Amino acid sequence: MKNIVSEQSRVYLPIVENDQVYPVGRVFCVGRNYAEHSKEMGDDPERDPPFFFVKDASSVVPSAFSDVTRIAYPMATSQFEYEVELVVALGEGGRNLSLQQAREAVLGYAVGLDMTRRDLQAQAKKKGRPWEVGKSFDESAPISPISLKTDLLAGNVAKAEIGLKVNGDLKQISSVANLTWSIEEVICKLSEVFELRPGDLIMTGTPENVGVVVADDEMLAWVEHLGEIRISVTD
Ligand code: MN
Repeated sequence: MKNIVSEQSRVYLPIVENDQVYPVGRVFCVGRNYAEHSKEMGDDPERDPPFFFVKDASSVVPSAFSDVTRIAYPMATSQFEYEVELVVALGEGGRNLSLQQAREAVLGYAVGLDMTRRDLQAQAKKKGRPWEVGKSFDESAPISPISLKTDLLAGNVAKAEIGLKVNGDLKQISSVANLTWSIEEVICKLSEVFELRPGDLIMTGTPENVGVVVADDEMLAWVEHLGEIRISVTD
């Protein structure tokens, strides 16, 4: 057999003010975790609870706070959309975690973008097919360095402003306090269907007013107390 040469390797995220790096395991995502976004997607937040999907870890693009990170406009779409999200990094795992265990499993937090090929996602939804083509593709998850959790930061993040601008224009603005399932609830519910492990990231969902970007657009995404990342889209 011919030797297989793979350029795929593990992804690491830097940790703020720390020499260690965080090895990314899996990337779990929550759909419809802000009521106003649920409505704009055509769902009834009273009737349709949030749910989970997964992005491949290879879609993560470590995005420094100080630089502009470039991502290429992806293949096969004409509706490339942003979703700013709070990302939670787990330092511990387990099954069927209690709220207390869920709190303790959080190592830190980051700012991320759940970039979406909305046209492909919409086609998949319509046909009852899996979402991967819309969600899990190269460079679809720019994520900032991780800020380690302290009790103070946990309290601040739970009610932090979350927002996104494109070319300086405000597009998304909300508060983490508007999450339908809180950070701890997300971890609890996820641990009822997957055994969680250190290295797992959770993208906790996006607030309302998602929209498209095209080549040469620059996004600024932030979560208060964590920082902001700048992501530009190239041809
Ligand atoms: Mn999302």
